[in-house]
Amino acid sequence: MDVKSMVEGYRDELLERLGTLVSINSVEGEPQEDAPFGPEPKRALVTALGMLEKDGFKTVNLDNYIGYGEMGEGDDIIGIVGHLDVVPAFKEDGWNTDPFEMVEKDGTLYGRGVSDDKGAVVASMIAMKVVRDMGIPVKKRIRLIMGTNEETGSKCLKHYVEKEGSVTLGFTPDGDFPGVHGEKGMVGAVYRSKRTGIREIKGGTAKNVVCRNCTILVDRCTFSKKKLEDYFNNNNLEFEIIEEENGTRVNLQGVAAHASMPELGVNAISYLLMGLKEAGFQDPFVDFYASHFGLTTDGEKLGCKCSDEYGALTLNNGVIAMEDGVIEGSVDIRFPVTLSSRKVVNMMKDRLEDEDGVVEIKHTAEPLFFAIDSPLVTSLLEAYQEVTGDMETQPMTMGGGTYAKGIDNTIAFGCAFPGKDYHIHDANEYVDIAELLKQAEIYVAAIIKLLNV
Ligand SMILES: [Zn+2]
Repeated sequence: MDVKSMVEGYRDELLERLGTLVSINSVEGEPQEDAPFGPEPKRALVTALGMLEKDGFKTVNLDNYIGYGEMGEGDDIIGIVGHLDVVPAFKEDGWNTDPFEMVEKDGTLYGRGVSDDKGAVVASMIAMKVVRDMGIPVKKRIRLIMGTNEETGSKCLKHYVEKEGSVTLGFTPDGDFPGVHGEKGMVGAVYRSKRTGIREIKGGTAKNVVCRNCTILVDRCTFSKKKLEDYFNNNNLEFEIIEEENGTRVNLQGVAAHASMPELGVNAISYLLMGLKEAGFQDPFVDFYASHFGLTTDGEKLGCKCSDEYGALTLNNGVIAMEDGVIEGSVDIRFPVTLSSRKVVNMMKDRLEDEDGVVEIKHTAEPLFFAIDSPLVTSLLEAYQEVTGDMETQPMTMGGGTYAKGIDNTIAFGCAFPGKDYHIHDANEYVDIAELLKQAEIYVAAIIKLLNV
């Protein structure tokens, strides 16, 4: 029997298992004894390990942080690293169905996690079963590692590496086909005002999202209302200007986007502050923002604009707030895969402080980069090409970070097919059943390739 038919033979089991896992609302919760990320991520892990145990694989639970199922023997470990936790989902966010009840419509599955990443985990389970059924010699250990804290810090994978070390070769099915051979590095920073007449400012929900909504309260008659309205209207922005007892409030709506692609969003903080400046509002903090960020998302004004053959640096202003008269905001910089954080920070060093404000570097993370002709990248690419026949799409680099950054010798591979948007982290997350089966088939091919590297 060919691999495709063997995978197809597990179709019902794949759907049943995915339905079971989707029904567990494994969003991070309050830590409890023996449940470091709350009871539901733990339940998802114990449930998934139970499935692998039922299959007859050796299973290990590492303190309810992360666990794995394993087959084969030898010193080398092929790791498939997926995750069972999910981001929150609420019906009122625009879901057409209950996000925690998997629903099938015309061959498409809907539910939180059907794609990211429970679907990929279940497809990997089926791939392991098929490899075993094939009866080929397995002289390495094939290990399906399942974490429970990917979405909120990957502390699960850190725990794994502390206890078990890295893997010999591996992939995380939590990115894109036909493989992500580079992930940008990161610099996280905050900026602070030194002097300002602004009374209130608040905007954004997360550092890694382009600010969608910003509100500010300033003294009356400090800017031209007409000029501000013109500025917003010229930029097609939705806004409100409200006279309040203690000043004039301006609310502005932007467009959210992921921090790794800030150019796709419309930053409400930036447009609000630059609009006020255009309208004649004079303030040291606004001057600081204008000279260090303005409307740019490429780091130019902070002195760190740069790129390599794989992409350019991006900069996102995610959240802003004011406390005790000081304004503080977040900066999320993703820098090209062939650079180092030292180099990027050095580029900014003369721009970090002036009399109006200061930028403080909080943390840095180095990029991940495998040469496009490295054995890991080429093996996975070949597996993808053999199953799909798609010889056009090439391995890519990206601005987001995956598990691959947290464990050696690993890149993201799958689960998203080229050009598809599965509404990951959004309402109505979905995956086609045919794609899940195709994923499993590709993972079988990938495991076989990696057995032979
Ligand atoms: Zn994920």
